[in-house]
Amino acid sequence: MTELGRRPAGPTRRELVEGIERELTLAGLESAAVEARRLVAAALGLEPADVVGEGAIRVEPSEAVRVARAVGRRLQGEPLQHIEGTVDFRSLRLVSDGRALIPRPETEQLVDVVARWVKGRDRSVERALDIGTGSGVLGLSLLEECLAAHVVALDVSAEARELAAHNAAHQAAEAFEIRPCPPEIWPAIKPDETFQLVVSNPPYVTSAEWAGLEPVVRDYEPRIALDGGEDGLDVIRAIVNGVGSVLSPGGAVFLEIGANQGPEVLRLLRAEPRLVNARIERDLAGRDRFAVAEKPLSGGASG
Ligand code: GLN
Repeated sequence: MTELGRRPAGPTRRELVEGIERELTLAGLESAAVEARRLVAAALGLEPADVVGEGAIRVEPSEAVRVARAVGRRLQGEPLQHIEGTVDFRSLRLVSDGRALIPRPETEQLVDVVARWVKGRDRSVERALDIGTGSGVLGLSLLEECLAAHVVALDVSAEARELAAHNAAHQAAEAFEIRPCPPEIWPAIKPDETFQLVVSNPPYVTSAEWAGLEPVVRDYEPRIALDGGEDGLDVIRAIVNGVGSVLSPGGAVFLEIGANQGPEVLRLLRAEPRLVNARIERDLAGRDRFAVAEKPLSGGASG
């Protein structure tokens, strides 16, 4: 090798992570250690555990450039998940970008609430409806975990539908049927169509709260997926008002809601004559987070 071709040895993975952790800490990021490891992993195409597990391996200059670019994006305020490009949600790894909301851990718990209900039934769920599917996360989890055989997934946003279709690529097209829907939702459902299960993580943040969200959320995630109007309940009201006619007898609706919306959503559900057993369930942090209601096996107003 000529003198010119000889390169100084680059930093090890561990040294690189430590340097980035210091940089992120200085920039005021809360979980700097975790983020540093994940950014290096994303840039090098590794799992975070391998970055430290094989921390003595030296980083090539071209790899260091990719890492620096990823760190730069994070320091500019971009969400970590957009830089990683994927999010792990239960057993799924989904593509996540600015086309839809980044799947949140609370929503993983919504699937547990649904799973308990499905497992307590004597029949499996044939057809489920996912309202505002975004990245596809809820509907695809239902299929993945055999909580439904067929999912109709609605979204107002064409970009979100494109992302959901991408994430559904490993699913049989007939099992995950994506449809556009208008803001009033129900025209997307055919007159004779019914579902045993309806799930939704609707936008539920109030417009005022939306304006005050952290820039990493407000500036990078679609407003339409977060802003539920003046009291945050616009979409929830639309769902509660119409869900009674698309649920089959014995079916149930599961909604993710804001931590201070429990009493009001319970009131809305109880005011809907076609629903019974309305209840609010909490997330792991002990906050009201999920609303559930059922359609009685008999005595419902329709179908
Ligand atoms: N939990 C989300 C947030 O606070 C809101 C999700 C939603 O509106 N569906 O960012």
